[in-house]
Amino acid sequence: MSTAQLPSYLSKENIGPWHIFLQQVEQVAPQLDRTLWPWVETLRRPKRSLIVDVPIRRDNGVVEHFEGYRVHHNTSRGPGKGGVRFHQDVTLSEVMALAGWMTIKNAVVNVPFGGAKGGVRVDPRQLSPSELEGVTRRYTSEISSMIGPNQDIPAPDMNTNAQVMAWMMDTYSMGEGRTVTGVVTGKPLSLGGSLGRPDATGRGVFVTAREAARKLDLPIEGARVAVQGFGNVGEASARIFARHGARIVAVQDVSATVYNPAGLDILALKRFQLENGTLLGAPGCEFVDSAAFWSVPCEFMVPAALESQINRHNAGEIVARVVVEGANGPTTPEADIILAERGITVVPDVLANAGGVTVSYFEWVQDFSSFFWSEDEINARLERIMSEAFGAIWSMAEERKLSLRAAAFVIGCSRVLEARAIRGLYP
Ligand code: GLU
Repeated sequence: MSTAQLPSYLSKENIGPWHIFLQQVEQVAPQLDRTLWPWVETLRRPKRSLIVDVPIRRDNGVVEHFEGYRVHHNTSRGPGKGGVRFHQDVTLSEVMALAGWMTIKNAVVNVPFGGAKGGVRVDPRQLSPSELEGVTRRYTSEISSMIGPNQDIPAPDMNTNAQVMAWMMDTYSMGEGRTVTGVVTGKPLSLGGSLGRPDATGRGVFVTAREAARKLDLPIEGARVAVQGFGNVGEASARIFARHGARIVAVQDVSATVYNPAGLDILALKRFQLENGTLLGAPGCEFVDSAAFWSVPCEFMVPAALESQINRHNAGEIVARVVVEGANGPTTPEADIILAERGITVVPDVLANAGGVTVSYFEWVQDFSSFFWSEDEINARLERIMSEAFGAIWSMAEERKLSLRAAAFVIGCSRVLEARAIRGLYP
């Protein structure tokens, strides 16, 4: 890739995950309708990127500064939408890539949103609850010119949750002088949150895995599943797989890799993690080296942690039949090729983990209409959207002999660029 395509604020050295997003766009560009080619460049440039200083007073009285970001990658199809991540390694490049994936994801499930993402470069484990609130409120205030229920709607992502969304909603509302529930999704139920939102990403992971299993004639009942990441996405995916008769044979989080070929008790494991802050010492399982996770014999592997976890170093060890990407960007383009050569089906992030933003969309609609749906209704609508999106991607992949990722990108990019082209250039 030529550096001419890079924005001046990213050098070849710090391009990070944005590079992966660009490669994915490059791969599908020739597959797009010719009339859209003049607009592809839009996807190579985020619409706007904001870097903010987030100073807080620590409990010991010392003022400390953190770096925060909010990126609107594309808003051709509607307001920006995407989560906020708190992590010590967050970079602008990462947030740009995550915003880009949101653009594609929202188009793949056809919710009327563009793609956005935010993050603060902070290790939330080092913050007290009041310091965490301080970071959240100051960050929200700093990005307030970019967010709003019709402009850009943040949501939870890694290390952020319903409480963080409540603080964001409150901070934004104070600035507006009125309560604006629709400015964020993933809120607590008492503030206009939606039933089904906490499990939505995991549920979507399961639905797309089940659809893939149907196509591949692979039973879920008795299937072995390995899950990397035991936060919101990993835990819910594992729990829902287990409820449908699958055996969760391995779970990995930052603290440990636990293994039990007979199947782990997911509820007990989560309880242990919540009580002890670690998986180390959990009963009823074996502890294995973290690198051994990738070669665990299983039918489904669910990466539900950080980007680039499946890469050229470990892709050759994976023996799963299907990789279902609960995380954003967990597989590098090199690893994609290795997995394809080995006959492993990859259900890509922009489809597999889109359940979260789909129910975020339901939450936003419910907030606007101040009319709330039942959990059954939400889950049924989620199922329908996810399985229809899966069906369209599978058919296109078969017809054009593409990977599911490439097919998802063709569908997503086409929807975005059609909207872009028909809107035309301003002024
Ligand atoms: N953070 C989630 C994602 O990566 C959800 C975003 C949202 O609900 O807006 O898809």
